[in-house]
Amino acid sequence: MEKKLGKIITTLLTALLVILAIVRLGRIREKGPASSHQSRILMDTVVSIQVYRGDAERIDQAIEAAFEEMARLDDLLSAWKPDSDIGRINRAAGEGTVPVDPRTWEAVQEIQSLSELTRGAFDMTIGAVTRLWDFSSPEAAPPDSEAISRALPLVNPRQILLDSLNRTIGLRHRGARLDPGGAAKGYIVDRAIEILREHGVEAAVIDAGGDIGLLGKKTDGEPWKIGIRNPEDPGATIEIIEVDSGAVATSGNYERFFIHDQIRYHHILNPKTGRPVPKVVSVTILAPTTLEADILSTAVFVLGDREGLTLIEQLSDIEGVFYLEGPRGLRRVASSNFPPPMGTFTVSKAYLPPRRS
Ligand code: ADP
Ligand code: MG
Repeated sequence: MEKKLGKIITTLLTALLVILAIVRLGRIREKGPASSHQSRILMDTVVSIQVYRGDAERIDQAIEAAFEEMARLDDLLSAWKPDSDIGRINRAAGEGTVPVDPRTWEAVQEIQSLSELTRGAFDMTIGAVTRLWDFSSPEAAPPDSEAISRALPLVNPRQILLDSLNRTIGLRHRGARLDPGGAAKGYIVDRAIEILREHGVEAAVIDAGGDIGLLGKKTDGEPWKIGIRNPEDPGATIEIIEVDSGAVATSGNYERFFIHDQIRYHHILNPKTGRPVPKVVSVTILAPTTLEADILSTAVFVLGDREGLTLIEQLSDIEGVFYLEGPRGLRRVASSNFPPPMGTFTVSKAYLPPRRS
């Protein structure tokens, strides 16, 4: 009798456990996955979105909407697509202003006003000169000096016509050309972060080929760990930093370049000379927004370590680190509040400062 009772109790308990497990499973299924990762080729690079936390039922929809908006904005802002807003502005150079999408208006306005902080180092009208260079082929050769000299007077922010009443944009003279390539990715990543937020995402990282936007805090409350590429081995990391929020962007001379007569020609040009900036190898900027990080990484690259660091120290909420060509390999210089690097380093250890604690 007692044995029988024991068996019944055991059966009941087992049944209860099974029911509890099913209920739990059901709940988990109902909630769906709380994180998701997707990559696509966009803006000439690999763009990845990693969602760590958000409204589980809308995560896939959120990621899809973010990618869609990025593709739409790239179609508006690319200097290389003839039917983009920027393409139409460039074609109409010297012939007045053209109507643009409200986002193009916003992007050009914001890029323009941030450029004013960069002492002429970031200039979207660099397009008059970038069109002469071909960084897409390893066998390319530099353009002839005369062509550069002829184009240089057109590199001037005063070429840009902004009609605020009608929200139309133009270029004053024929041959002038907008190239927002040094900042458009930053603007686009910020918009995509916004879209994720609107879809209930609470924590995410968007990485668009080195322009990284962060949303919220990771689930474990730890800071984000961001790897900075090793310029001498872009597949590897030269340092890892911890960042709480905001954005990180890197400009490097290894991104797009060709070598001609043993000289490396790369895609970050000095607006005063129309030629690649020497000595700087990479610049990484931390900023509240990806747009600021993107513009400043290019601008500070052009300014070089001395003037560049002075600018960084003057701006609040901006930090940066340079890798420069040194006599014994890479030399590292960072702004005063740049996070101390953690992790291992693969080159030029001698130049790295001791780890602060
Ligand atoms: P990446 O596009 O590799 O992330 P950057 O953000 O530094 O790198 O942008 C480099 C691009 O910026 C160039 O390909 C060119 O289109 C544009 N550019 C180059 N020099 C300047 C400059 N002095 N001011 C503004 N834009 C520039
Ligand atoms: Mg940039």
